[in-house]
Amino acid sequence: MRDVDAGPRVLLKRIRQIMVKPMDPQTRLDRFVEEIAQSMVAEVCSAYVLRADSILELYATFGLNPDAVHLSQLRLGQGLVGTIASSSRALNLSEAQRHPAFQYLPETGEELYHSFLGVPILRAGRTLGVLVIQNEAHRVYSDDEVEAMETVAMVIGELIAQGDLKGLSTAGVELDMEKPVSHHGQSLSDGIGLGHVVLHEPRVVVTNLFNEDTDAELERLEKAIRGLRLTIDDMLARREVAFEGEHREILETYRMFAHDKGWVRRMEEAVRNGLTAEAGVEKVQSDMRAKMQSINDPFMRERLSDFDDLANRLLRQLVGNAGAKASNMPQDAILIARTMGAAELLDYPRDTLRGLVLEDGAPTSHVVIVARAMGIPVVGQAKGVVAVSENGDAIIVDGLAGDVHLRPQQDVQLAFAEKVRFRAKRQEEYRALRTQPNITKDGEEFSLMMNAGLMVDMPQLEESGASGIGLFRTELQFMVASTFPKADAQEKLYRAVISESGGRPVTFRTLDIGGDKVLPYFRNAPDEENPALGWRAIRLALDRPGLFRTQLRALLRASAGSELRLMVPMVSEILELRQSRELIQNEVRHLSKFGHGLPNKVRLGAMLEVPSLLFDLDNLMKEADFISIGSNDLFQFFMATDRGNSHVAGRFDTLGIPFLRALKSIADKAKEHGTSLTLCGEIASRPITALALLALGINKTSMSPAGIGPVKDALLKTDIGALRNELLPCLENGIPDRCARTLIEDFAEKHDIPL
Ligand code: PEP
Ligand code: MG
Repeated sequence: MRDVDAGPRVLLKRIRQIMVKPMDPQTRLDRFVEEIAQSMVAEVCSAYVLRADSILELYATFGLNPDAVHLSQLRLGQGLVGTIASSSRALNLSEAQRHPAFQYLPETGEELYHSFLGVPILRAGRTLGVLVIQNEAHRVYSDDEVEAMETVAMVIGELIAQGDLKGLSTAGVELDMEKPVSHHGQSLSDGIGLGHVVLHEPRVVVTNLFNEDTDAELERLEKAIRGLRLTIDDMLARREVAFEGEHREILETYRMFAHDKGWVRRMEEAVRNGLTAEAGVEKVQSDMRAKMQSINDPFMRERLSDFDDLANRLLRQLVGNAGAKASNMPQDAILIARTMGAAELLDYPRDTLRGLVLEDGAPTSHVVIVARAMGIPVVGQAKGVVAVSENGDAIIVDGLAGDVHLRPQQDVQLAFAEKVRFRAKRQEEYRALRTQPNITKDGEEFSLMMNAGLMVDMPQLEESGASGIGLFRTELQFMVASTFPKADAQEKLYRAVISESGGRPVTFRTLDIGGDKVLPYFRNAPDEENPALGWRAIRLALDRPGLFRTQLRALLRASAGSELRLMVPMVSEILELRQSRELIQNEVRHLSKFGHGLPNKVRLGAMLEVPSLLFDLDNLMKEADFISIGSNDLFQFFMATDRGNSHVAGRFDTLGIPFLRALKSIADKAKEHGTSLTLCGEIASRPITALALLALGINKTSMSPAGIGPVKDALLKTDIGALRNELLPCLENGIPDRCARTLIEDFAEKHDIPL
């Protein structure tokens, strides 16, 4: 009787002998199929490889007509082989011709054979081809035989991935692995990046496939599984389970899966069949990934992808952390990840990063906020991109359109390289404007500052030519951390920001958390139906004075000897500003009692983001030392449109007449009371809206640093008085058949102003 356990092991041993002998790739593949056929007691063994044109080409056969090699072809989904490839599932049939998908290929002479076993050739969950055995007799192949076939298929997968089978196709078509692929995702950060793939979770490249000593390998596997379980327990035991993106629930799921008997058994089986521990883990992971592709149920997919993460961790346990972070980062790295924490992004050397592609990711995810601050183009929601990418592949990230082009063809590469050159030229031109005074064509002064929130933003101050930081979002330090930053860490950051700003004014905004700015470690955050209207920003700060006071103290200490400008977000009624002032005064008293240095002056501003304040402007202007319009939120509440909801976010024009009237009423009141006024939302960073703002009398704005060059360029070329003369009457009377946008566009075109 055949020893089923020994069968696959012997086969793998022979395959290994063929692998190490020098021979040309076609001979090697021919020897493989011959060896497999003999070992599996099959009359036929054939290997089909998937080409870039979605054709499965017969690459080698033992038993079928040898003249059919490189001639026989099946489309993806066509025939049994095509069905296996498109579904990534094995087919085990005792009467192949009865299967509805069976397709007869006369050139192969396969009509003699009844039973059929075909398995996908997988690598990292991706189907690269199909491996088939056939027998004349009606035979049902055992589970062990299926397993053995899957294991050798994996070895062939490695051959394909390493490029061994390149150039063998007589049709001259390249393989599926090398074909260009484009993904359309969501644009999360502007810009274009050309470079080479760096997988954030690099596939631990399993080079050692065949085991020498099954028992020793089983022991290694067991030890690694034990280690994995311990690490998870360890993470769960920490008081603050606050790994970014790794909340307690996920870890609990991981713990459950790490004990999953089926998963462990399948890996052990692969090792018993002759693979090393790591190759066994990879085999089971690859099967799982393939399964994941055909599952639509999001819950199931999520579970399978948890197993995927777990397998990656296990592989790292087995091969150590070697390769966990790409050691030889290309100089033009484009990171690809399913998901990533902000702190992980900051671990990469900034000067080598050209882009980021995520399978998930949303405009408000922390990693995206940080990437934007670093000026890196980001595309999110690029589903499936990890599976089709290999380290070192050429790639283009188009953060403007939300597209990713993997292994692009030369014409696409050239077109994008041209775009990048054009953008770089524009940047040069903007850089040249930095030293020019901020005065419009007709002599009106304006001031352009930048928004910031992390130390990585600071070099942009010099680079963009901003005259200061009009909005420092202090919550970003909290958002990228895994626990509440301690008082001294806060103070250290504020000190560093003040020192880096080299005397240019900095306006710190006190914590604006809540709403879409979620802190994963903030345990007592309530579940809210409408977080944007909920317990956030100044509301939370006043209800949690401990948190607020710690921050105020850190700000006061960091600004000792200079002026502290701070502003509070989301003020809805003036009382909140008054209460904030009281808290600040208490802290000043406390610090001076203990002899700490204090700021020369503290100026307290209010962010105008809630429309209620529009109806209390006189009092507001009297009470606040300065006002900063947060136009992102003000517009959201003014028009009742969720700024983060893509179905409505672009629905209304920020240059709509009612909103412009509201802005003008603020500007007029600020002027009347002599209160300093700034605007720091996104509309400040687009030339067309920036023109409107200055025409309304808002001459100080703060924006993302990339906006400063184009806005300055446009303002320098504008006779703002002339635009004002056209725009203001329209605000008073309404514009019957034109909106303010077309009015400004027409004006800009007439006067040659770049928008
Ligand atoms: C705003 O709302 O316009 C603003 C600048 O604040 P944030 O975008 O941080 O809410
Ligand atoms: Mg806001």
